[in-house]
Formats: sequence, structure tokens, C-alpha cells
Amino acid sequence: MNFTFNEDDIAFQDAAHRVCAEVLKTNAARYDETREFCRESLDALGELGFWGMNLPEQYGGVDISSIAMSLAVEEIAYHCAATCSSLTAHFLATDSVLIGATEDQKQTLLPQCASGEKLGAFALTEPGAGSNPAEMRTRAVRTSDGWHLTGTKHYITNGAFADFLVVYAKTDPDQGHRGISAFLVDRHTAGLEFSSPEKTLGLRGSHIYEIGFDCVLPLDALMGEEGAGFATAMEVLDRGRVEVAAMSVGISRAARDASLAWSKERIVGGKPLCRHQGIQWMLAEMHAQLEAAKLVTYKAADARDSGQRFSLESAVAKLVASEAAAKVTDAAVQVHGGYGYISDLPIERYYRDARITRIFEGTSEIQKIIIGRAITA
Ligand SMILES: Cc1cc2nc3c(=O)[nH]c(=O)nc-3n(C[C@H](O)[C@H](O)[C@H](O)COP(=O)(O)OP(=O)(O)OC[C@H]3O[C@@H](n4cnc5c(N)ncnc54)[C@H](O)[C@@H]3O)c2cc1C
Repeated sequence: MNFTFNEDDIAFQDAAHRVCAEVLKTNAARYDETREFCRESLDALGELGFWGMNLPEQYGGVDISSIAMSLAVEEIAYHCAATCSSLTAHFLATDSVLIGATEDQKQTLLPQCASGEKLGAFALTEPGAGSNPAEMRTRAVRTSDGWHLTGTKHYITNGAFADFLVVYAKTDPDQGHRGISAFLVDRHTAGLEFSSPEKTLGLRGSHIYEIGFDCVLPLDALMGEEGAGFATAMEVLDRGRVEVAAMSVGISRAARDASLAWSKERIVGGKPLCRHQGIQWMLAEMHAQLEAAKLVTYKAADARDSGQRFSLESAVAKLVASEAAAKVTDAAVQVHGGYGYISDLPIERYYRDARITRIFEGTSEIQKIIIGRAITA
């Protein structure tokens, strides 16, 4: 495999590095401590076109390669995983539109999403349907007034801050997953009820909400074809899992870099920590796990650009990179000793932020099911 970058990719990476070092890095600890929504950092990324990095130029996007996008996501997560989570949730919403909407819907909505004007949310999970979204109960019934949408979604990233939500609902429950359709829902539609943001372990600047729906949507709120929602959501998640893998790599890299620096400064037993063989082995394992995670992530990103289905590659990338992030951030706490456990340093934040990567967009167990089915087919 040969990973090459064109001039646009490199310029984009440089821009990512600059805005992350200037804005995101400064805000990350504050968001974590105060649980303030990461609006300022998101807006800074929006001004530079990052909200459209998953979209083609014809819809206002920046048209970079998926590998360049992965590198940008990695850079964002390196400096602020919460901002990265909110941005990638926006991509789940805009990928849904890109894959499943009509041409008119794409032309109307996507340029504003790419330019940083409209933030999206992706509403698939429900209290009774997480790992198996086909069990969803949210219902949309066509009436003379429009679509009557009823049900509850939960853990929806960006929820109350989003301008629009892509909501998945059953239009024909007898058809199982083939009876699921997607809807474009304006956040200000009457009949939407948002909870307070959940008190999460990590990613505290990226809010998640329970949302109750009892509302009437216009007929043209149906996104694309009736009954095509489940297939759209699965394709969206294939793409999203590459981003979760890149996010995991970013958090791991931050933890590895901090541990290397610390191990050179901290003197124990008359010499720097890094001169103790036991610590060197820990650093070596962290480095090797990170390198492996990077390679599967770039491979999945490359597969994403091929135009073929890449469910297997994206499941492998998500599984390997998120499990690596758990190990690397845990080792980072260990290398720092007690200093790793208190919030003066970002190490304990990396550890908490990494935990979700094994859960959202399909848990590690679900990735193993996808991989197992694919390799035994
Ligand atoms: C911070 C955060 C952000 C999120 N953002 C969004 C969002 O923006 N939009 C959205 O729609 N959702 C979002 N989610 C929801 C997330 O995708 C789900 O939590 C996740 O898919 C798991 O579903 P669940 O929580 O219902 O767990 P469950 O499905 O109840 O799973 C519980 C456990 O059972 C295991 N399990 C389930 N099925 C099997 C099986 N067949 N075999 C073996 N083990 C199994 C799981 O791996 C897990 O360990 C978010 C969640 C969090 C915490």
C-alpha cells in the first residue's frame, strides 16, 4: 500500500495543525472541567472549512482524500477529543444526507453544513435499541398533514445544539429493518423535547441528549426513498467508524507523546524514568500499538476512497484502534504514576475520553460480529 498526499491534502493538514494548536488545545481542559459545549472550537473549525471535509466540492465540501481527512480528524482528537466527537457526529448527519437524500435535499442542505452554518445530529439509538437498531420503536406515520413522528432517541451527540437532525424511524414496522426510513428534522420543530445533557465520563465538551418526538413533519422531510433508511445508516456507520478509528489514534498519540516527554523529565532512583527498562518496555508497547492502529486506520480510509463497500476494513480499524487507545491511555496513567491520576495534567482526561471509542458507532463486540461474519462468509 502506498499512502501519498497531494498539495491540497498537505495544505489541509497544515491548516488543521494550526487551528488545533491555537484554539482547540487552549479550550480542551476548560470544556472538560466545566462541561461547556465545544461551540467555540467547532466554530473555529467551521470557519476554515473543516465541517465539509467529508463532502465533495459540488456540495461546498473540500474534496480531500479520506486519508487526509483521517489525519485531520486525528489532529483534532490529539488536541480536543470532545470537539472531535461533535464534529464527527456532524459528519454522521451529513453523510446520511450525502448517501440517502434526494438531489434537491442535498443541494439545499449540504453547502450550509459544509460552511459551518448548520450543525447536524444523527439520531439512530433509542433506549431499547442500541447495538441492534432494527429494534427501534420510533414511528413515522404518513397523514394528510404530513409525517407524524413519535418516539424517543437517546445519547444523541450535538442534540440541542444541532440545527437539524437526521432521525431514523419505522414507516412500515412489518418490514423489519426494510421498514426504516430517515427524516430531516429542523431542531425548532414543535413537539421536540430535549433532556439536559447527560453527565458523561469523558468527552465532556460534546453533549449528548435524550430527545422525545411527538411532532408533525412536512411530507418532504422524508429523506430520499421510503424504506431505505437502514441501508443508509449502515453505510454511514462504515464511514463513521474510520473516523472513530482516527479519533482513537489521535488520543493515543497525545497520550504516547506526553508519556515520552514525562519519562525523559521525571527522575526516579537517580535517573530519568525512560532509562528504567520496565518503563521503556511500556513506552515501546504504547508506540507499537499506536503504529498498528495508524496502519489499519489508513488502510480503511484508503478503502473508503475505492468506491467499494469497506465494512470489513472499517470494522477492523475501529476495533484495533479503539482497543489500542484503551491500552495506550491506561499505560500513560501508569507511566505518570500519581501525576497521571489527577487533573493538573491531561493524562486522566485522555484515559476517560478514550473509553467511549470502544462503545459508540458499534461496540467492540459488534465490530467482532461484523468481522467474524465477513471472514467466515
Ligand atoms: C458519548 C456517546 C455518544 C453517542 N452518540 C450517538 C449519536 O450521536 N447518535 C446515535 O444514534 N447514538 C449515539 N450513541 C449511542 C451509541 O452508539 C450506543 O450507546 C452503542 O451503539 C451501544 O448501544 P447501547 O448503549 O444500547 O448498548 P447495548 O446494545 O445495550 O449493549 C450492551 C452490551 O452488550 C453487548 N452486545 C450487544 N449485542 C451483542 C451481541 N449480539 N453479541 C455480543 N455482545 C453484544 C455490547 O457490545 C455491550 O457490551 C452515543 C453513545 C454515547 C455514550
